[in-house]
Amino acid sequence: MEPSAATHADAPAPTRVEAPATGRLLREVPTLDAAAVAELAAKARAAQPGWEAAGLEARAAVFRNARKWVIDNAEDWLDTICSETGKTRDDGNVEVSVAAQSFGFWAKMAPKYLAEEKLRSLSPLAFGRKVAIRYSPVGVVGVIGPWNYPLVNAFCDCVPALMAGNSVVMKPSEVTPLSGLLVAEMMAECGLPDGVLQVATGGGETGAAVIDNCDFVMFTGSTRTGKRVMARAAETLTPVSLELGGKDPMIVCADADVERAANAATYYALNNAGQICISVERVYVEAPVYDSFVAKVLENVQGLRQGPPAGPGEVELGAITFEPQIETIERHVLDARERGASVVAGGRRRPGEGRFYEPTVLVDVDHTMKCMTEETFGPTIPIMKVADVDEAVRLANDSEYGLQASVYSRDMGKADGIARRLQAGAVTINDSQVNFTVFDAPMGGWKSSGIGVRHGPAGIRKYCRTQSILYTPFAPKRDVHMFPYRPWRSKLMSRVVRLLYGR
Ligand code: NDP
Repeated sequence: MEPSAATHADAPAPTRVEAPATGRLLREVPTLDAAAVAELAAKARAAQPGWEAAGLEARAAVFRNARKWVIDNAEDWLDTICSETGKTRDDGNVEVSVAAQSFGFWAKMAPKYLAEEKLRSLSPLAFGRKVAIRYSPVGVVGVIGPWNYPLVNAFCDCVPALMAGNSVVMKPSEVTPLSGLLVAEMMAECGLPDGVLQVATGGGETGAAVIDNCDFVMFTGSTRTGKRVMARAAETLTPVSLELGGKDPMIVCADADVERAANAATYYALNNAGQICISVERVYVEAPVYDSFVAKVLENVQGLRQGPPAGPGEVELGAITFEPQIETIERHVLDARERGASVVAGGRRRPGEGRFYEPTVLVDVDHTMKCMTEETFGPTIPIMKVADVDEAVRLANDSEYGLQASVYSRDMGKADGIARRLQAGAVTINDSQVNFTVFDAPMGGWKSSGIGVRHGPAGIRKYCRTQSILYTPFAPKRDVHMFPYRPWRSKLMSRVVRLLYGR
């Protein structure tokens, strides 16, 4: 299922997809212009009523097929994902397994989350009446995704939209569109009716056209682009859900299991070469355990292998997927150096073929430095010594972002207290990132990290219009509050109001 390019003379040039680990050209894909996107959206709109009418069970069956398909074809998936992102086989495997889990989760939970609700209202005017709340698909959902997880961060947001009975136009990042095209192939083989999922390949202008043609926008990407997406959507009053950037803090308390905290910091800052919105981006360590924590992180980092995607378990760090991102990483490390930080591991682009940045540990850092305040999205671990938990919390909250945070302490009560003081949509205690796979729990950023949530009941209801229906099965010819007004009835009404609320 290949998207067709615009055929007119001034059609945009095709998009070149390159392998970040080698620089090799992988393929060219069509760049869809606004007219081509409108055409895809029209096809999606035409297919939607049939898909909605098919019912939840039929839709769930398609995703159960997809769950098996993604596992049966895991090697194809890994070839595609790893070649266009440059991530390691193991990081690619995370995408495959999380996607499979997501398909099964929504197939199972959508009927519960979308079940019609019956209300018993507190309103005196609802006496003797019934109220039902139902969720009706919005129609066509536009899903715009980033390059860091082309399967999970683009298609996994389509899954609840489709399960709710919508059709979807998905725009993968122009950097990593091949996974999006493989998704279309998979879903067609798994029984998704023709037209229900459309893949619009292209860049920012293609994304803008998706916004213009859909009834709801699910966007994952940078805060800068998120603001543009919201402004564009405002023109047509199209609702949006935005999953944006992060600068996730990790707090290591003096009573933490330092070895676990250091292993977690190493893994959760450097997995996927740090290109994860919920990466550990900065670490605050209480003074008594600072030295032992830094020493353990350094020991861990020194043993890491880096290189092109290889066999399972062969390298820990892959490439930087997007050229401008490696420039951001370089800028942040240079800025830190210039402001007095010490680079105790890594700190440079790896020489030779491909786009790699060495795993990097920075100490003597503070909040005058970009590495502590701006999203780096790369394999860096800046570690800052703090006097106490209060200082750690103050610094953790000193950020425009509020996506996630983590706290490490052996005292769960104390860690819970710290979690509740942190300005972040999700907090993990003695863990980081794993909450992403807890699909039952809502996940969404505070502050500049987003609007709305993915996962949990709200993660599927957002793709629906909510309708409440009030039933009045037995009714007099005229209710007491109806015209014409009469003094005795007005007095009666006032007395009832006083009786109900005046005590
Ligand atoms: P971008 O914001 O650059 O791009 C995201 C998507 O938006 C891409 O498909 C891009 O297309 C598209 N786009 C660009 N301009 C427009 C526009 N004007 N209108 C509509 N769509 C547009 O993000 P990146 O791809 O660089 O991804 C990295 C960012 O994503 C980081 O900030 C990271 O934190 C964030 N992210 C957030 C997550 C979360 O859950 N909160 C998860 C993963 C990443 P194209 O690529 O073709 O230019």
